[in-house]
Amino acid sequence: MPKIDDMTQLTPTANLTTIENNFTQLGTSLDSFAPRLLDWFAENGRHDLPWQQHQTDAPNPYVVWLSEVMLQQTQVTTVLPYFARFMASFPTVQDLAAAEWDTVAEHWAGLGYYARARNLHKGAKQLVEVIDETGDFPQTLAGWEAISGVGPSTAGAIMAMGLHRYGVICDGNVKRVLTRWAAIDGDITKSATTKELWALAERLTPVDDSGLFAQAMMDMGATLCTRSKPACLLCPLQEDCLAHAEGRETDYPVKAKKQPKPSKFSNALLIEDIDGKILWLQRPDNGIWGGLWSLPLQFVEKTAGKVNTKTAAEKN
Ligand code: SF4
Repeated sequence: MPKIDDMTQLTPTANLTTIENNFTQLGTSLDSFAPRLLDWFAENGRHDLPWQQHQTDAPNPYVVWLSEVMLQQTQVTTVLPYFARFMASFPTVQDLAAAEWDTVAEHWAGLGYYARARNLHKGAKQLVEVIDETGDFPQTLAGWEAISGVGPSTAGAIMAMGLHRYGVICDGNVKRVLTRWAAIDGDITKSATTKELWALAERLTPVDDSGLFAQAMMDMGATLCTRSKPACLLCPLQEDCLAHAEGRETDYPVKAKKQPKPSKFSNALLIEDIDGKILWLQRPDNGIWGGLWSLPLQFVEKTAGKVNTKTAAEKN
């Protein structure tokens, strides 16, 4: 798709970075994106999730950080009971930092991607150090990015929603919405496409309302612009969504096929002593189920992974 230079955005004082940022959407569409999205969110968005902070004047960054880590690769409905258990047992970051790893792991068990739990526990200790030194949670993007397991999008979400400051998010949901709306057909695993998407996300995020905007984008991606069945007829972006105009919504985002993963087979050994006690071993920190307790495993074989023949659209 040819790019339309966003000349309407240029001002006499525009700097080189602005001039170099070309988008596939017109300036009028770029300007009206946030108002349309926020109007839709006010009426149709979710306003009762337990970690949302947009209806309070005293946001709690701990709650946003915890939920953001839990929501990585995981659906809201799955996270809700885990979040409730965490908040009941560790109502503050100090409680989480002081907990034993085994207790944290037990609370996380079943949520998957266990590296997140290890990072969360380590991150809680780092946050407590920052609070002890400065009297507060980190107040900058760089401060949050220094916390274990916090990437640029999570840091942006915490800044915007957890501190009510300026922050930009560009997570999987946002990438899906933006690649469709702007018909960005570069591979989203490539850094050039990532850069393009971040530039677009920054261009669209309103400086004064970035927390609400972040929340609205998340809701859009989760409830309307879903992977396999986007509800375009209800979408506030429908009139200028380029993927919708082409009837190719599910062709975006474009993602290279991953190398097939090998499969590893092991026997799980149930070893019981005379009193009925079962032998459990703690897994090493790295690798599958890192830091968790499991039955001893006896390696059997490793086989090459199957080639995944599904297209990105089919997988979505
Ligand atoms: S019109 Fe459809 S594809 Fe485009 S952003 Fe909306 S829901 Fe997504």
